[in-house]
Parts: sequence; C-alpha cells; structure tokens
Amino acid sequence: MTSSFKLSDLEEVTTNAEKIQNDLLKEILTLNAKTEYLRQFLHGSSDKTFFKKHVPVVSYEDMKPYIERVADGEPSEIISGGPITKFLRISGTSGGEQKIFPVNDDFAKKMGYILALRSLVMSKHSKDTSAEDGKSMEFHCIKPESTTRTRDQVVKVRASFAYTLVRAINFLEKYWKELCSNIRSGHVSDWITDLNCRNSVSVILGRPFPELADLIEKICSHKSWEGIITRLWPKSRSLEAIFTGQMAQYIPILEFYSNKLPQVSTVYGCSESTFGFNVDPLSKPQDVSYTFLPNISYFEFLPIDHERDIASIVDLVNVKQGCYYEPVVTNSFGLTRYLIGDILQVVGFYNSTPQFRFVRRKNIVLSVETEMTTEEDILRALARASLVLESSSDVMLMGFTCYADVSTFPGHYVFYWELKARAIKDVEPDKKVLVECCSVLEESFDALYRRLRSKGGVIGALEIRVVQKGTFDSLMEYFTSQGGSTAQYKTPICINSSEALAVLESKVLSRFYSERSPPLDS
Ligand code: AMP
Repeated sequence: MTSSFKLSDLEEVTTNAEKIQNDLLKEILTLNAKTEYLRQFLHGSSDKTFFKKHVPVVSYEDMKPYIERVADGEPSEIISGGPITKFLRISGTSGGEQKIFPVNDDFAKKMGYILALRSLVMSKHSKDTSAEDGKSMEFHCIKPESTTRTRDQVVKVRASFAYTLVRAINFLEKYWKELCSNIRSGHVSDWITDLNCRNSVSVILGRPFPELADLIEKICSHKSWEGIITRLWPKSRSLEAIFTGQMAQYIPILEFYSNKLPQVSTVYGCSESTFGFNVDPLSKPQDVSYTFLPNISYFEFLPIDHERDIASIVDLVNVKQGCYYEPVVTNSFGLTRYLIGDILQVVGFYNSTPQFRFVRRKNIVLSVETEMTTEEDILRALARASLVLESSSDVMLMGFTCYADVSTFPGHYVFYWELKARAIKDVEPDKKVLVECCSVLEESFDALYRRLRSKGGVIGALEIRVVQKGTFDSLMEYFTSQGGSTAQYKTPICINSSEALAVLESKVLSRFYSERSPPLDS
C-alpha cells in the first residue's frame, strides 16, 4: 500500500475481492502457521483448505491466555510470526468485558489507508461535505480533552462516535462562560493543570481576543441551544461520526443541535480490525451500509444460527443478499478466526464486495422470562418513545440505558433516561407523557414480550427512571476509571454490572410506570 491513494484503488480492490482475500490469507498463514497457537491446528501448513477444516472459531476468552502471555513479556511468536509492538485496551462497554488486543505498525497503516479512501469518496460525493474549502473540526475524547480553534472556517464537525459530539456540546454548555473569559483575557484557567494541554491552548490563545469572546458569549447565552453548531460554526455543512447501531439514539439530539445538518456515518470497525466504510456518505443513517475492504484482514462470515459450526462459514465474496451473519476475522497480529460479536445483514454489493448494514451486537439482550429483547428491538422502541416525548413535551432524550430487574416478582424492564429541556431553563418531566412513553416502549416489543406482560403475566410494568443531568457522564467516568479508553466509550445499551447500576441509582429523580398492558397484536 502506498501513501498516495486514488479513487480507482477502491474499484480495483472491490472488483478483485476474492483474489485479494485468498492472497492475504496465504500471507497471514505463511507468517503465522508456525506460531505456538496455530501449530496445534495447522502443523505448519499454510493451505487454505486445511485452515478451513481445522482451525476453530474463537472468542476473546479462548485467546486471552495467549494474548496475556505476550503482554506479560513472552515472545510475540506465541501468536504472531511478526513483532507485536502495541496492545490496544478496550473498555468492554460494547461487549461487557475488558480486553487487550495485540497490534503492530501495520494496523495504523491500514487504518490510514481506509481513512484516506473514505476522504476521497466524501469529496467525490459532495463538495458540500468535503473539507477542501474549509476546515474539519474533530473532537477526540482523550485524557485530558482538548479542542481546536479556527471557528470561522469549520465546514465539518467530526468525531469517531456520535456520542462524542454530544459530549463536546454538553461540555461547552457547562463551560462556555469560562471559555469566553479565557478568550477575553488570553489566559487559560488555572485549574487546567495538564502542561501539554495548557501549552497547546496558549499557543492558539496567545493574547486577549475580546471581540471573539463577545461573539461566542452572544451565541451561547441564547435561551435555547437549538442549532448551536450552525450558529457557532456558520459554514458547517455536515456532521461526521458513526450514527448507526447504538449511536442511532443520538441522531435526534444532534439534529436539534445542528439544525438537521446531514449526518454522515463513516467507518465500521473495532479494535480487532477495521472492516470498511460507507461509500455513499450522503445516505440517511437508517440506509447506511459499510463496504468491506478485502485488503485489510481476512474476513469470513458465520450465519447467525450456526453457533461455532465451522462447516457453515462462508468467505467474503460468498455471502448472500438479505442474510444475517457474524463476521469472523483473521489478522496478521495473532487473531485467527476470531468472532467479532456483531450481527450484520448483507444489503448489496459494490463490485464483487458485499455491503453490510450494522444490525446489533450479538449478546445484548434484555430478558425477564423466555423473551429475548435485542439491541435492535430496544433501539426501535426507543425511537418511537422519544418521538412521543418530543412531540408532547419540551424535553428531549439525552441518554439512556436499561436493565432487566429480576430482584422482585414479576421482574420488569427498567429504563434510565436523562432528559434535556429544549430551552436553557429546566422543566419538570410531565408524568402523563412519561407514563405514555413507558407504554409505547412496551407496545414496540415483540409478541412474546407482550404476551408475557399481558394481564396476570410474568413480566411487570415497564419503568422509566429519570436521572439527573450529567448522569451519563458519571457513568462514562465510572467505566473509563476501570481502565477503558474514553475515545471508544459507548454507553452500554443494557447494564449488568452492579457497580454501574449503583452509579445510576444514586442519580434517580423520579419513576414512572406503564399503566396499561400492551395489546397482544400490533
Ligand atoms: P471497540 O472495539 O470498543 O472500538 O468497539 C467496536 C464495536 O463498536 C463494534 O464491534 C461495533 O459493535 C461498534 N461499532 C463500530 N463501528 C460501528 C458502526 N459503524 N456502526 C455501528 N456500530 C459500530
């Protein structure tokens, strides 16, 4: 891979997907077949048929002892023929457990390649969403956080996950007065003690900017923050982040903050591998698909109802339109036939390469009895309930999570909701509206839920617990204090950690229950 990419590269790799995948597998096996891990299955062979027949699909638990030995100082050759130069730590908020993943410099190179191709595609699709004639302002959650200047030229506001954009705006909402005072005086507040952060901000600030401070103050003191992004950065023409899957819950609040600027979903990937990107950047969040790039990792696909059955696995180019799969990744840094834990649906092909819709994480389900309410069900129900909330009151949903409370009989679903008033002034949640939202959530769940919940059933009335402002920031602080990365943090859709539940419980302001059983047919 070279550093000067062209759009034709995308055509070439997606057209020759099968050959590229086979060559890549050969390369990985030639490098890794003699590792301690693969030797037990391959006996040194780098043959694809042998690989397909003998190497099992694995999850993190299976690989953990090998990975930890390398992390503890044993040689990389336990899992990888090449050097392992780094470990990525992930918070486990998407899947529940903390994990570390081995990588080397190739990882960053491949990431750079995907990002470069994605930028080319963005430029091709719309001049409006390309940053060629302006600047792209990016929010990265790091410890500590920082932002950039150049207000006037921002045409694009960007972050990895939609949640980071929401957090950045919330941060500004909390600190804009102090920010203005810093800009006015040309002096960074003393409580910001991180030297690197102070130095880089001081380079930009340099001297007092009273006119700029006045301008920001005028915009931020407006009684509503509706359209704040377009008022602060009037040339901004798009928001760029991941808006699919779990991030879909932030679409309404970001529409509110940005006066409905186009929301461009970018890439699909995880710590184990990047997979691909959205080649149609202007598509609506619900229509977004991700085109896999065959030269990143070797990708296989397990049909969803074939738990760990290696005979049913198919190659990238052999997936079927409309079918649901879990991706399985083999990379050169020591993960072989590793189950990612996401469910994807094939929605089309770009040349010979499939395009996938992100459906949900695999194991995220709420269950009180025999029903299995998936992440997708929860997000769909939530979208309906938040429409009711927004059309019948002056508040919007800022964040949510849920759990199945089975500590009492009958068990019931509990949703924690953080609300935000459209105007600056806080308003009390309206009981009638919140009770209605409880019922709308229940009515959106599947027939089995509704039957179990119906009169005399074994599921109790769904409950919404409204929590204080800032609760989801506290939750994030709790999870990242456990060692996770702030940049990759995603509020878990369902919570099962008792410590995390305790954080939420300490912030509950009021409780509302559904007052009617959902109808059996919908
Ligand atoms: P992490 O390894 O912590 O970065 O989390 C990776 C997980 O985030 C993936 O396995 C997905 O569940 C989720 N994810 C990443 N990209 C997307 C996307 N474009 N759409 C929906 N979910 C995503």
